[in-house]
Amino acid sequence: MARQKQPVTATAGTTFPAAETVDIAQLVEDLDAMLTRLRLGAIREQLDALLEEAARRELNLREALAWLCAAEVASKEQRRLSMAMTIAHFPFVRTLEGFEFEAQPSIDPSKIRDLATCRWVANGDNVVLLGPPGVGKTHLEVALGREAVARGYTVQFTTAMELLGSLVKGQQQGTLEVRLAQYSKPKLLIIDELGYLPLEPQAGHLFFQLISRRYEQGSVLISSNRPVEEWDEVFGDQVVAAAILDRLLHHSHVVTIRGDSYRLREKRRSGLFRPQAGGSSSSGSGVKPPPPAKEV
Ligand code: ADP
Ligand code: MG
Repeated sequence: MARQKQPVTATAGTTFPAAETVDIAQLVEDLDAMLTRLRLGAIREQLDALLEEAARRELNLREALAWLCAAEVASKEQRRLSMAMTIAHFPFVRTLEGFEFEAQPSIDPSKIRDLATCRWVANGDNVVLLGPPGVGKTHLEVALGREAVARGYTVQFTTAMELLGSLVKGQQQGTLEVRLAQYSKPKLLIIDELGYLPLEPQAGHLFFQLISRRYEQGSVLISSNRPVEEWDEVFGDQVVAAAILDRLLHHSHVVTIRGDSYRLREKRRSGLFRPQAGGSSSSGSGVKPPPPAKEV
């Protein structure tokens, strides 16, 4: 006579039956479904390999369970990371390991490594990266942003043009509040390329509203090709620029990068680009840069 099968899915009020009364063969058959129900996808996907490895290493039951859980935790962490990286909207992948400090002697490596600990993000401080085009500002923004994501902080990358364009549109369409709230949400907001392109007249006021909202709450990592003394020109309003800088710089780390564009350096090395007659090859000032290359 066929054995009476115990239902695998417990209903409210039921207790788990004694092992000897359970149909283990049926449980094994239902294992996939149970792992799915418990959202243990990594264990389900790699079950055979994980069990083989556990057997090969002669793990006891507790050790084997820990081994399976570790695989699930690692997979969930990997998924969280890749999701958070996608949400952050980085324009490309750059890392601190990939940054050649020797190529940019004006940067103190220990300062950047200290920033990579993300203590400043935990404290709600800001970082301002200043320097001419091509010296690695966006590279460092992305690299530091990825460090923050890896430490569990919410991060959003945007450009000054995109951000201010969105706020101006919000003001015109009556959705400014929603957009300000959206840009206030991430623990770290990265704003790239302030100062490259002229801003709309009301942009300074809108930017001020955002910076005030984030002040001492969330961090801003901002880069600009213009020194802060010129930000009144960038925003077209001295009072607004002073108010923005007052909040931005209050708890901040300013990194000023001087020197040659890394892009031009690479081009010079490969012989594709030569300084103009009379121009200096060691200083960016006498060299007319080519149009900005599209990043890949
Ligand atoms: P910026 O934002 O200051 O204009 P980028 O960060 O876009 O400059 O740098 C231009 C390119 O050169 C990027 O591909 C970047 O990864 C690379 N780069 C810049 N500086 C360095 C560096 N010191 N080491 C490695 N790559 C660099
Ligand atoms: Mg850049």
